[in-house]
Amino acid sequence: MTAVIIEPDARQKLAILGGEAADEVADAPASNSISEGIAHATGFLYDAKRAGGGTTRLFKVLQTNACRFACRYCFTSCAIRRKRTSFKPDELATTFISLSRRRLAEGLFLSSGIVPDADTTMEKMLGTVERLRLREGYTGYIHLKLIPGASYDMIERAVELADRVSLNLEAPSQERLSLLAPDKEFRESMWRRLVWAWQAIERRRAVGLPCARSITTQFVVGAAGESDRELMATIARARHEIGLGRSYFSAFHPIERSPFSELPAEDPMRAARLYQAEFLLRDYGFSAAELPFDTAGLLPRDVTPKQAWAERNLHEPVEVNRAPRAALLRVPGIGPKSADKLIAARRETRLRDIAQLKALGVTIGWAAPYVLLDGRHPARQLALW
Ligand code: SF4
Repeated sequence: MTAVIIEPDARQKLAILGGEAADEVADAPASNSISEGIAHATGFLYDAKRAGGGTTRLFKVLQTNACRFACRYCFTSCAIRRKRTSFKPDELATTFISLSRRRLAEGLFLSSGIVPDADTTMEKMLGTVERLRLREGYTGYIHLKLIPGASYDMIERAVELADRVSLNLEAPSQERLSLLAPDKEFRESMWRRLVWAWQAIERRRAVGLPCARSITTQFVVGAAGESDRELMATIARARHEIGLGRSYFSAFHPIERSPFSELPAEDPMRAARLYQAEFLLRDYGFSAAELPFDTAGLLPRDVTPKQAWAERNLHEPVEVNRAPRAALLRVPGIGPKSADKLIAARRETRLRDIAQLKALGVTIGWAAPYVLLDGRHPARQLALW
């Protein structure tokens, strides 16, 4: 394996700042160019899943692990005694470019603790990215975290330089956020910064200037009593108001010596169901209000949200030879790709056999109870499989 040349001091910083950054990553299924769900992690390098298979190796690192905030779920909280250190922008840019030129990292994911204030922190992060883009000529993938409370100019510059920007909302509302992070403010410091990022993206896109392709966010799930309904309602609103792309979910796990060290860890299946519900909002045309919450506002864990929705609502089978795309997307086992293939195929031929559906990518076991093939229920055919 090729040796990575990193100055000794930077190497020590990397062990700390790369390790802590890796702790922050949420797990997620792939769906767009780089989903940033973990396929595999090795210290500060992790393999992000790509749509259509394969992975991209990202270097995930903090500019600093010093932070003046005391978020109760966070390893970097100032309430936890630990060794603190920071990368200077030059140092971090040199470290990353060394990894990149040796093809050990294909992209950068830069986050940071906040110290002494939002703008100073953001300025250092932007300094790192500017050195990469302008001095080193690096044109590869950069995901840059926006710092809550950063000024408009900083947000705009981040949008100019990065491929993706994100700001972790952590919770669906101020009320829930206050339980997780008593020092953080939801509406002005976080939501408004996302609005600014979206406005800057739209303005640059309109005149053909390069800019970040998407905005993402992340939620800590299970430590503030939030319901899935609250999360999905906030995500739906964010999609509408700030063009939110992906949402990531991090099932809470207690951190030693933190104020939440005694709280139970959240069931990872809850995060998995939230991802599936978020797909329904984003790619399947569902509204948040349609999702199959129970009386406590939670999604079922034993079946997918789409299956649960179909069991409650899909009382009439869908004729695959005639149904519009939106109706096909409501059928379990039919996704956006298989719906498009199905619509293309039925222009050429009448669909009469479940083997035809299978060849188009439909998951037969899920779809069969809910579809008609040329007026016939495929249950009898299914029994022969
Ligand atoms: S502001 Fe960020 S780094 Fe600081 S304690 Fe909160 S979550 Fe952790």
